[in-house]
Amino acid sequence: MKHTLFWFRRDLRAHDNAGLSRALQSGGKVTCIFVFDRAILDALPNKADRRVEFIHASVAELKGAIESLGGELIVSHAFATQEIPSIARKLNIDLVFANEDYEPAARKRDTDIAAALAENGVSFHLVKDTVIFEKSEILTQVGGTFSVFTPYKRAWLKRLADRDLAAHEVASFARAFAKPPKKSAMPALAAMGFLPTNIKAHITPGMDGADAAFGEFLSRIAGYDEARNFPAIKGVSYLGVHNRFGTISVRALARAAYAQTIGKSNPGAETWLAELIWREVYFQILWHHPHAATGAFRPMYDAIAWRNDARHFAAWCNAGTGYPIIDAAMRLINQTGYMHNRLRMIVASFLTKDLLIDWRMGEKYFADNLNDFDQSANNGGWQWAASTGCDAQPYFRIFNPVTQSERFDPAGKFIRRYVPELADVPDKFIHAPWTMPPLARQAIGLDARYPAPIVDHAVEREKALAMYKAVREA
Ligand code: FAD
Repeated sequence: MKHTLFWFRRDLRAHDNAGLSRALQSGGKVTCIFVFDRAILDALPNKADRRVEFIHASVAELKGAIESLGGELIVSHAFATQEIPSIARKLNIDLVFANEDYEPAARKRDTDIAAALAENGVSFHLVKDTVIFEKSEILTQVGGTFSVFTPYKRAWLKRLADRDLAAHEVASFARAFAKPPKKSAMPALAAMGFLPTNIKAHITPGMDGADAAFGEFLSRIAGYDEARNFPAIKGVSYLGVHNRFGTISVRALARAAYAQTIGKSNPGAETWLAELIWREVYFQILWHHPHAATGAFRPMYDAIAWRNDARHFAAWCNAGTGYPIIDAAMRLINQTGYMHNRLRMIVASFLTKDLLIDWRMGEKYFADNLNDFDQSANNGGWQWAASTGCDAQPYFRIFNPVTQSERFDPAGKFIRRYVPELADVPDKFIHAPWTMPPLARQAIGLDARYPAPIVDHAVEREKALAMYKAVREA
């Protein structure tokens, strides 16, 4: 009988898993593997990395789930490019299945592994699972790729059929799992050189955590449209990290949201579904335009002469800009690994258009620190804010950090939560404390505990406009 290996990567769930379902129906006995890939882990700058702990906890839950279905999940800490071919040889594997990973580095890894497996006559099959539509499934009428969101969304919704949202069964094919010779252990976090973090204080990892978070969000999805822009209120789903590591199926998310839009008006569900479509736009952009991973989607903008002041960058990273909304947002990411979408837009605009710092420095900081870091969405978000991307914010639309703050955190509730130094600043001045009369500032000792703004928005705005115009007119 054939022996099939299923390799888990960013799909840490034992239900509605397209690749696992296909592997179980491939006619062989199936063994599963997850590799803590040293090619990724060894490069992480911070050994107290919240993502690694999230994955570790999620894999532990997944291992239990596969075992309770009668199967085995081997968990190793190794270089995937060596481990997969090596395990395939050891277990006499005929076929390897995995779900598709669209990032440029993952594509290169998978090509290398496919070649190594082929040398031993083992075939490697990649299955669509992470998205509803991938690669070239959504094209313009003349067969081109979309670079503008709204027509992409329209085409996506037009193509959507029930089968695209249907779950890919696992449990009903469980008899195809190879019986484990004995229960295998999994490496401890410490054995891989990682330290515990505070992630579990903010999010519950694993399939159970994802299901609970989604169930809770469904009870307020109708209000998403109104509430999603205000960081002080619970308006968004907080499912980003679960989407990143596949502890929930995107089909389940889209199915539930889509069902709420059929035959009735539900702007909350419609807008949320549109966010899932944004996620897919960015996957297909990086797939079709891999140059965007390292440079501007619109190459003209690679010529921008960024100022890249190291002190300004350090102030942005360390929440010391003197702009309360920026500093509160940066403390949020630094303390929890999460940042609300509105805040991501504001801090990215500030870094690029107020501090005149290359978007790639911010992109890297987010990549190192976001729990839900996903290369395509992160790159897309940064290029949107920096106006270098497709369908981006026009270069002349520059967020004013004070008016954004007044609009989206009107009472300064979010600011006060993360910048308690400003707790006793009156509402009137909370967004721009430097405008408070000197005597009033002195009375509460403000200048000693909170910095003055490191740049003047009005001045930097003009410089940013000139910087963009210079390359557009060159
Ligand atoms: P919700 O508002 O509840 O959205 C639901 C899901 O839709 C999200 O979990 C996410 O999977 C997807 N989604 C929502 N908005 C977007 C978007 N604009 N682009 C792509 N997918 C979206 N998202 C990431 O998943 N990883 C990143 O590394 C990332 N980096 C970003 C960087 C910048 C500069 C910006 C402006 C946005 C970035 N985003 C990123 C998009 C967005 O901010 C997050 O997906 C969202 O804040 C996650 O929180 P949530 O799950 O509560 O979102």
